[in-house]
Amino acid sequence: MKHLITTSDFGSDEIEALFEDTRMFNDLQSNTYLSGKLVVTLFFENSTRTRSSFEIAAKRLGAEVVSLDVGTSSRSKGETIFDTVANLNAMKPDAIIIRHSECGLPGSLTDKVDCPIINAGDGTNAHPTQALLDLFTIVEHFDGDTQGKKIAIVGDVKTSRVAASNVKLLPRFGIEPIIVAPEHFKFNHNDFKQVNSLSEVIDEVDVVMSLRTQLERHSEVYYASLQEYAKDYCITQEVFGDRDILLLHPGPVNRNVDISDEMLEDKRNKILEQVTNGVAVRMAILKKLIK
Ligand code: ASP
Repeated sequence: MKHLITTSDFGSDEIEALFEDTRMFNDLQSNTYLSGKLVVTLFFENSTRTRSSFEIAAKRLGAEVVSLDVGTSSRSKGETIFDTVANLNAMKPDAIIIRHSECGLPGSLTDKVDCPIINAGDGTNAHPTQALLDLFTIVEHFDGDTQGKKIAIVGDVKTSRVAASNVKLLPRFGIEPIIVAPEHFKFNHNDFKQVNSLSEVIDEVDVVMSLRTQLERHSEVYYASLQEYAKDYCITQEVFGDRDILLLHPGPVNRNVDISDEMLEDKRNKILEQVTNGVAVRMAILKKLIK
């Protein structure tokens, strides 16, 4: 049985086939590919987009969805997560979609269940469906010609699971990540070019991905206020100029901290296109994994 824990679970050919289905699902909304199937979502961390995107994806495929409310579940009565998942598995769902703050937790469940596990984000580790929808958005924008393209990933790269998944996935399709961050948000290895400011690389990149500062994952306070961070890292019209660059963000966006109001209105910003593609990519993933 196949699971989706990190993007390396899918080979490049599989991703290309997945994107064929994604294109089909972007045109074909509701269908019956998964009618009679049951999908469980189990979110131990907050989510707006990812959870609703998965639920809409499953429903558009004709599946039933049960979303466990972890606040009122037996977890609050002291049950371990492994026992919660074993009990859910005994009810024979066709897939379990899980988000948790602990790195590696979704991967540790795969040998305890009889259905695919889909990682909807584990701590700072991985967010494979987000990276796949980001890649899809880039592929479509450049008509499949991604070789040699460069992407600036801006902000809290070190604690972002979105960045962690993208820097592994995008180079497989010829896209070079360049990290733009203050020292405390950079990777502590030099596998990628890392610079301090977007203006240093703005003339060489094709895509800019802005990230939210992951305050909930920091053990230290780096900024008295996010306005301090925004002075150097907010994506503005001034830094973009009239360059032909695609602007992405996984959401939620902190307005005028991550991206200025003006750039959120700009045609080069494809954030809502990412959200639309997210449903179609997740439909393709559910179709692929659920037998
Ligand atoms: N929604 C993304 C995530 O779950 C990005 C973020 O929260 O900043 O990682």
